[in-house]
Amino acid sequence: MPYPIAHVMFFVFCICAVAVYTTVAGLLRRTITTEQTPRLLLLLLIGSFFALYPDITAPYNYLVHGTLEHTTVGLVPTHSLLFSFSALLFGVLIGYAIYREFARALYVGLFAESASLSHLLLDDLAGARIYYFYPISDIAFSVFSRVDVELACMNRIYYMLSSYVVVLFISFVIMLALFSLSHLGFEFRYRSEK
Ligand SMILES: [Zn+2]
Repeated sequence: MPYPIAHVMFFVFCICAVAVYTTVAGLLRRTITTEQTPRLLLLLLIGSFFALYPDITAPYNYLVHGTLEHTTVGLVPTHSLLFSFSALLFGVLIGYAIYREFARALYVGLFAESASLSHLLLDDLAGARIYYFYPISDIAFSVFSRVDVELACMNRIYYMLSSYVVVLFISFVIMLALFSLSHLGFEFRYRSEK
C-alpha cells in the first residue's frame, strides 16, 4: 500500500490540482486574506483525513494488536464503495458542525467522499485489489491492472471497456472534488478572451 503521505499528496496535488493552483495564485496576488486562511486549512485537513479514511483501522490495530491490518471493520472491507460512502455521512456531520447549514454540510460530505474514493484509486493504481462491489460481490479486483495492452489482444472489447471505466472513475472523483469545492468558496469559471 502507498504511504499515508502519498494518499494525502495524491488527493491534494492531483485530484484537487485546480484548487491548489487557485490557492497559490490567490496567495501570491494577495486576493486571499489571512481571515480566509483558517477555512482553507480546515478543508485541507478534512481532505487529508478522508484521503486516509479507508486505512482508518491501521492505527488501532497497530496499537492494540501490533499489526498493520487495515482492510476490514468487522466483516466490512474498508476498501470498498460501501465503506467509502460512510465518508459522505461523516463529512456531512463535520460540515454541519462547521457551517450549521445543511447545504454546505452536504458539499463537505461530497468533498470527503471524493477524498475517500481517491484513496481507493491510488491503492488500485498501486496494484491493490479492492472490494468495489461488496456486499453484492465478494470479489476483490484492480481496475487498473485490466488496462493492459498485451491483454487487449485476447479480448479487445472487454479491455477497451475497462479503459473507459478507469478514465471515467478518475474523472468522476476529480469532478466530485471540484463540484464540492466550487460550493465551498472556490471559483472555477471560463472567462472569455478580450
Ligand atoms: Zn489503503
